[in-house]
Amino acid sequence: MNKTIGIFGGGQLGRMMAQAALPLNIQCTFFEANTDCPSAALGPVFSTKATNGLQDFITSADVFSLEFENTPLIDVDVLTKQKDLHPPRQALAIAQHRLSEKALFDELSIPVAPYKAVTSLDELKLAVEQLGLPIVLKTSRGGYDGKGQFVLRTVDQIEQAWAELGPAGELIAESFVTFSREVSIIAVRGIDGDVKTWPLAENHHHNGILSHSIVPAPNSADLQPVAQDYITRLLNHLNYVGVLTLELFVTDQGLYANEMAPRVHNSGHWSIEGAICSQFENHIRAVAGLPLGSTEVVRPTVMINIIGQYPKSEDVLALNGAHLHLYNKTEREGRKIGHITLMPNNSAELTTLCRQLAKILPNPLALSEDMSI
Ligand code: AMP
Repeated sequence: MNKTIGIFGGGQLGRMMAQAALPLNIQCTFFEANTDCPSAALGPVFSTKATNGLQDFITSADVFSLEFENTPLIDVDVLTKQKDLHPPRQALAIAQHRLSEKALFDELSIPVAPYKAVTSLDELKLAVEQLGLPIVLKTSRGGYDGKGQFVLRTVDQIEQAWAELGPAGELIAESFVTFSREVSIIAVRGIDGDVKTWPLAENHHHNGILSHSIVPAPNSADLQPVAQDYITRLLNHLNYVGVLTLELFVTDQGLYANEMAPRVHNSGHWSIEGAICSQFENHIRAVAGLPLGSTEVVRPTVMINIIGQYPKSEDVLALNGAHLHLYNKTEREGRKIGHITLMPNNSAELTTLCRQLAKILPNPLALSEDMSI
């Protein structure tokens, strides 16, 4: 009998996990505030607002996972007294707190930008003195897609930065990293400790939101083993089961870790078509205790997010080799509502496809014409 997997959250990540689970005859259930969420087409949604919602959700499945990294630990603690959660609670707790995350990177000798904890205006002034400017000031909890951040470039911005972020609680001040590129590494660890890693993705952002990823990241042969070593240290240290993502900056001094996400990741959506086994299928396999699939690349792939407004499906699907994924979300500025996968044969074909896409997408973001694979 195949297991049922209960997933905290019901967004597009849960939807794509459940899509990967279906051929394995694994059913998913979800725990989410909005029962009309993107995952609802794939399985029952238990409302976080219902009186017995959590207990009904716990009863609904054999083993549990998550697609939402801010899943409340209070709920997780009720669950783990009764059933197993993959990834482990500790990974979730650390990823929810930037200072703990940085401390773990330090402990495992994974390089990070110099940083200081900040809990008062005086500590912020001291951090500026010790780290120098510019610094990136971030809330330790709750930030995502660049929210809860202030780039502090001059001393006279200190008061304003404190006024904006101070009320949010504990902060972290990080030295500004001069990076040439942002990349991410995604890996999966099975219940038996087997680790498999996908190639690095090169990630491009627009207004703090991921615009597109190119995989394998061009010119990354030297970086891949280093990133693979870092993520393997994290997986083994945390006795992790499932998919983990590590976001990194490429600098002249090598790779610096930015943050980790204890879940499948937007920069891994390419793997649905671009890898032998996708991040979603391997996550499901790991959580269900099944053998992991190959993470090998089928073809170099570019994944482009659809943000805010839908293009016409017929326009996208008329592009040679394009795949379209729609999340059944309502249109809203800055919201990720779908993605497109391109698998061009070469850089020239990619350029042609991007020119065509730029005309089709209502919001073409940071797509540049000189992308190469
Ligand atoms: P985060 O929420 O930590 O992923 O940060 C969002 C974005 O802000 C990153 O993708 C980077 O582009 C930028 N960023 C974050 N931290 C730093 C840093 N220490 N130095 C330079 N840029 C940063």
